[in-house]
Amino acid sequence: MAVESIMTTYNRLSVAFERGEGSWLFDINGNKYLDALSGIAVCGLGHAHPAVTHAISEQAGKLLHTSNLYTIPNQQQLAERLTQISGMDNVFFGNSGAEANEAAIKIARRYGHTVRNIDNPAIIVMENAFHGRTMATLSATGNRSAQAGFEPLVSGFVRAPYDDIDAIKTIATNNPNIVAILVEPIQGESGIQIPADDYLNQIRAICDENNWLMMLDEVQSGNGRSGKYFAYQHNNILPDVVTTAKGLGNGVPIGACLARGVAATILSPGTHGSTYGGNPLACAAALAVVNTIMNENLCERAETLGNKIADGFRKEIGTAPYVKEIRNKGMLIAIELTEGGSELAVLAKVKGILLNITGGGKVIRMLPPLTMTDNEAELLVNTLSQIIRVYAADERSTAFPEAPNSDRRV
Ligand SMILES: *Cc1c(COP(=O)(O)O)cnc(C)c1O
Repeated sequence: MAVESIMTTYNRLSVAFERGEGSWLFDINGNKYLDALSGIAVCGLGHAHPAVTHAISEQAGKLLHTSNLYTIPNQQQLAERLTQISGMDNVFFGNSGAEANEAAIKIARRYGHTVRNIDNPAIIVMENAFHGRTMATLSATGNRSAQAGFEPLVSGFVRAPYDDIDAIKTIATNNPNIVAILVEPIQGESGIQIPADDYLNQIRAICDENNWLMMLDEVQSGNGRSGKYFAYQHNNILPDVVTTAKGLGNGVPIGACLARGVAATILSPGTHGSTYGGNPLACAAALAVVNTIMNENLCERAETLGNKIADGFRKEIGTAPYVKEIRNKGMLIAIELTEGGSELAVLAKVKGILLNITGGGKVIRMLPPLTMTDNEAELLVNTLSQIIRVYAADERSTAFPEAPNSDRRV
């Protein structure tokens, strides 16, 4: 495949898709694949969902873009729907998760300057966090290999271990420049890491005591995937800022930074913006997505089906060699291996299952569409369990002769 014209920022599997329908993708040779990744938590409603297709087609025939110099009714409707669902006060729309987080970081800094009178405001971020690839979000990300070679990084981030409340308390006593915490309710890219049940409640309390903004990155965990519309809704708290993107547009690029209370008053005309952000097309798609998630109770569906899939794996391969832990929060599902299993993504693809390997090569990550059927879920559990059993038995060279070597990642 001639890919030299594309910068090699991704290791790609050698398959090209032509069409999708629900939980299925069809490649250019007519082979079908069960999609347990949803384009990395993006296509929560599956592929070619009629409500989204209809909203996009209709909007495309009317108006794509006007800029934020004018009122955009779709954007207002979407903002109202999102604030109503989330308990937040207002929204800034961008085009990606990184942009949503950039907005959050800018709100925190300006809050530091204008409300707290702090000249060098700092934000607590976590080890193994992922917040994006722009310079500020890369600096907030807790993965040295993603940062290496891009120094100087953006300053003003203080790192704490994930799921460690004492570490945050220590920073609170030692660092008077802190103005905010930015944290994922569930760490996605580092392998679906699920913190203690009361982690967010404790962070909320510390933020209240110290006048810090509690900022949650729900780019991956939001939009129903965790079993609630936003993962913080499991904790009965409200953050000051929450960001989301991925599942919001079902494939149409859109990101959102929601704020509440004082955080909602920080940005004013001229302090932030985006040419495309919240344009009529993206908002039409997102409105269809949000309404479908809510009207079809897909949050509840994510919780029950996610638990069912994880239980299915526990029953099939819970005690298999190579399998260290099976965990999930709704339809953020992980099978952690005792050692690296990067080739499992290739082996699964050969058997018609799409997933990915993250968490340093040791975690099989599944983010299936929230609309996946019970039968598809069963097929996923049975097929992948069989693949892992064979892999664990170290028969993979003979069991998967058709796995092309060119797919093997380094
Ligand atoms: C994917 C992701 C991002 C970055 O989103 P982009 O749309 O790729 O910029 C940020 N935070 C989290 C938690 C993510 O999973």
